Amino acid sequence: MKLRRNPFPQKTSSLFLFLTLTVIVPLGWIYDICIVLPAIHEPGGLPHTFTCLLAIFLLLNIEGNFLASMMTDTSVDFESAVPPPDGTEERLEWKHCDICDKLAPPKSRHCKYCGVCILKRHHHCGFTGYCVGHQNQRYFLCFVLYTVIGSVHSLIYNAIYMWGLNGSVYSKIYFNFWQSIIMTWFDFTFWEILQVVVFGLNFLLVTISIAILCMNASTLWCSDVCCHKEVEFKYHNGVVNNLKSVFGLRMHVAWLFPFINSPLPEDGYNWEKVAHGDSRKKIED
Ligand SMILES: [Zn+2]
Ligand SMILES: [Zn+2]
Repeated sequence: MKLRRNPFPQKTSSLFLFLTLTVIVPLGWIYDICIVLPAIHEPGGLPHTFTCLLAIFLLLNIEGNFLASMMTDTSVDFESAVPPPDGTEERLEWKHCDICDKLAPPKSRHCKYCGVCILKRHHHCGFTGYCVGHQNQRYFLCFVLYTVIGSVHSLIYNAIYMWGLNGSVYSKIYFNFWQSIIMTWFDFTFWEILQVVVFGLNFLLVTISIAILCMNASTLWCSDVCCHKEVEFKYHNGVVNNLKSVFGLRMHVAWLFPFINSPLPEDGYNWEKVAHGDSRKKIED
């Protein structure tokens, strides 16, 4: 795995999203653990302990996978890329990149934001400021998956806390929704405003993370190339093998933690093209 020399986002927009993930999300997590959770579960009891451990597991996976996705360099290394010999069928799959002026491997694409060709490029990620491709897609997908689980979990607890235990906030919003948003913020105490803001940000995170997860579902049926204009199924090797190409040979445990080593079956440069209709046979083999 190749690491970036300078992994921090280079653009202001990506830096803002980076700080949101590394500062705002942990602050929201502390708010949940210190204020929301003790109001719902008795501290020291089994539900409280279990929820605390689950929250630690989710935060470590969200932040760990996010940083791993950002730090992993998945660009094409033209120094070591050796195209197949002239005249072979494999050679035809290598395309010339006009910007790098090099022969790039199958499934790679040039990214105008990163300024390089990316191995098995899926998309350029605004949160990390870098592309998602062959070597970091596992971390990116785990980051999104755990963000969905964590934000939904947090939203449920915040809803119980705000509407179940503090009915006054709920009734103010419910009966005077637009007025409370536009005109009568001064009727709320600071504490009530904080609860509404946290709930709103939480809801936004749930919506965005679910949308991103759906957009990345292409991994399952066309092996990471159909987010581009041309839809290609020639590398679709069956759902199980496609997942193995992302999560590695130890994919059954790789999703548990970013530090679990799970080598990828392909090097990112050489891909076996699958004839349409042969994918079922490949899995059975
Ligand atoms: Zn290029
Ligand atoms: Zn990029």
